[in-house]
Amino acid sequence: MQRGTFKWMKSVNKTMILNKIRLSGSISRADIAKETGITPPTVSSIVKELMDENLVKESHLGQSTGGRKPTLLQLKEDGYYVIGVDAGSKTIKGVVSDLVGNIYSRTEVEVYSNITKEEFLKSLSMVVEQLLTGYKQHMDKILGIGVAMHGVIDVETGTSLHSVNSGLINVPIKQTIEKIFDLPVMVENNSRAMTLGEYWFTNDNAYNCFTVINIGRGVGSGLIVDNKLVHGAQGVTGEIGHVSISLDGERCSCGNIGCFETFVTGDAIVRRAKRCIANASENLTAEEVYRLAKRGKREYIQILEETGKLIGIGIVNFIHTVNPDKIVLSGGVMKSKEFLLPSIQKTIHERVLTDKLRLETIIEVSKLGDDITVLGAAALLLNELFY
Ligand SMILES: [Zn+2]
Repeated sequence: MQRGTFKWMKSVNKTMILNKIRLSGSISRADIAKETGITPPTVSSIVKELMDENLVKESHLGQSTGGRKPTLLQLKEDGYYVIGVDAGSKTIKGVVSDLVGNIYSRTEVEVYSNITKEEFLKSLSMVVEQLLTGYKQHMDKILGIGVAMHGVIDVETGTSLHSVNSGLINVPIKQTIEKIFDLPVMVENNSRAMTLGEYWFTNDNAYNCFTVINIGRGVGSGLIVDNKLVHGAQGVTGEIGHVSISLDGERCSCGNIGCFETFVTGDAIVRRAKRCIANASENLTAEEVYRLAKRGKREYIQILEETGKLIGIGIVNFIHTVNPDKIVLSGGVMKSKEFLLPSIQKTIHERVLTDKLRLETIIEVSKLGDDITVLGAAALLLNELFY
């Protein structure tokens, strides 16, 4: 395979067969032909190509319905590797992953506040350099580098246009990292990358309209419709953290008043606890609120239940705007899920417009946990490879 281009993958039949094998786990040539409607000789010749390209392997023998047992085909998961980087405002984390999300190595560096554009790019390339150390002899197996960056991204040029948390503006991530490492680089907003990661690595791709809502230091979301991330005309689709839910609330980092995220982030939980609990510690953190709730402190449980209700209200707004099949909740705040989820679900139940929405909208907490962003960054490349 030629590095730096995925053009070889773009035959419709080849894409269909590769995804059939990936999603089936293992499947025979005959069943591929049956299920895709592609003729058996074409299936055989495309499968040969995929095996030559190190993407597919033959596996154990399948069940026979009489006659010779068919050979099954599987994705060759470690045929290629991808680098996924989560460029956060406090740390830059990176992993090397294979085609199915197994992580082989990881590294991270701290990011200091008021970091300059040059220092940020230097830290980012340091993470990639460290990850590539063990792969210098196998560079042809590295498909590329995916970067999940907070803030507004120009996906075409791979530029971070504006990140409120770091104060960085117009950072040419793709251009710089591609030049240093001579590998394809894709850059995406972190919430969108998370959405792709969850969709890609947890077999959630049965859903036509799928979303991840990330609630941590800020609030964002990503939306996948018909296998594609939705960006909107100006790349702002999914910025639910900045949907106003109060006319006279607190001022948000974006400058508006009463944004959803001023009610539900970790900092918002701490502010609410300090406001409502007379003897709350001056140095209280969101982690501490969760710890105290787990110890059965009623007033801290109530703070989290109240937060769950507010998250539920934000989700109801989202359901009524987008109407997704499935919503996955991720981010640090969701670590308190045992206190949040019941009141989130109760609020949704009470407020959505129809019984069908109530019964059929699936709400879950992320299965990928803390790795959702790095794996999402890796999935940026895989999505390009497989579709
Ligand atoms: Zn805002």
